[in-house]
Amino acid sequence: MTLVEVKGVSKRFGGLTAVSGVDLTVDAGEVHCLIGPNGAGKSTLFKLIVGLYPPTQGQILFDSVDITQQRPFARVQRGMSIKMQAPSVFRELPVRQNIQIALQGHVSGAERDREEERLLTLLNLATEGEKLAGALSHGQQQWLEIGMALALRPQLLLLDEPTAGMSPEETFRTGELIKTFNTGGMTLLVVEHDMAFVRQIAQRVTVLHLGKIFAHGSLEAILQDEKVAEIYLGKTHVHH
Ligand code: ADP
Ligand code: MG
Repeated sequence: MTLVEVKGVSKRFGGLTAVSGVDLTVDAGEVHCLIGPNGAGKSTLFKLIVGLYPPTQGQILFDSVDITQQRPFARVQRGMSIKMQAPSVFRELPVRQNIQIALQGHVSGAERDREEERLLTLLNLATEGEKLAGALSHGQQQWLEIGMALALRPQLLLLDEPTAGMSPEETFRTGELIKTFNTGGMTLLVVEHDMAFVRQIAQRVTVLHLGKIFAHGSLEAILQDEKVAEIYLGKTHVHH
C-alpha cells in the first residue's frame, strides 16, 4: 500500500527551482532514504510533504487523500511528524518539559506521565530529564527532537539528517532505534549522508539531484550506478 504519493511536485523560490517535477512514493511500512548532494532539494521536499511550503506545482497524497492544500497542523493530525534539519528543541527548558510540550494535546494525566517516561527511556535520556535541553550533547539533542516527533505517535516519521553531529556509536544506536520504530509499524522517510547508516536502515533509496529524481532502488543498485557516484560523490565535474 502506498502511504505517500508525491505527483509532479515542483517548488520555485524566485528564479530558483529547488524541487522540479518530483514523483515519489513511500510505501506503508517501509524505511525509505532520500540521499543526494547538498542543495539537491531534500529538505525542501520534506517541507512540501509536511506542508510548510505550498508547492508551485503538483499534488501530494497521504493515505490516498489529496493533502496538497492542507495546513501542516492538519497533516500532523492525519499522522505525519517531522524532525527538521535545523535543531528546534527548547534549549532553555528541561529535557522532560520538551517532551511534555510535544505530548500536550495528545495524551493527559497518568497516560502522559507514562508516555513521557517511555520516550525518555527509549531515547536514552532517562537520566537527563532535569537537564536543560541546551546542555545536552548535539547527538542527545537530536534524540530529544526525535522523541518530540514521536510524541505525536505518527504513522509517517520524516527525519532530516537525524545523525548530524553524532558519534559513530550514537549514529548506530539511532539506526537501531529507527528499525525498532519500523518494526512497530511506523513508516519512515529519512534524509541521510552517511552511507553506512543508510545501509543499516534503508529498504529503498531515492537519489535527488538538482531538484529532480535521479535514481531509485536498493542501496546496492544505487551504489553500483556510476552516474550516481559521479553526482553524489562528486567524482567528476569538480574543478578546484
Ligand atoms: P538539501 O536539503 O538537499 O541540501 P535544500 O532543499 O535545502 O537542499 O535546498 C535546495 C535549494 O533550494 C538550494 O539551492 C537552496 O539554497 C534553495 N532554498 C531552500 N530553501 C529556500 C528558501 N526558503 N528560499 C530560497 N531558496 C531556498
Ligand atoms: Mg537539507
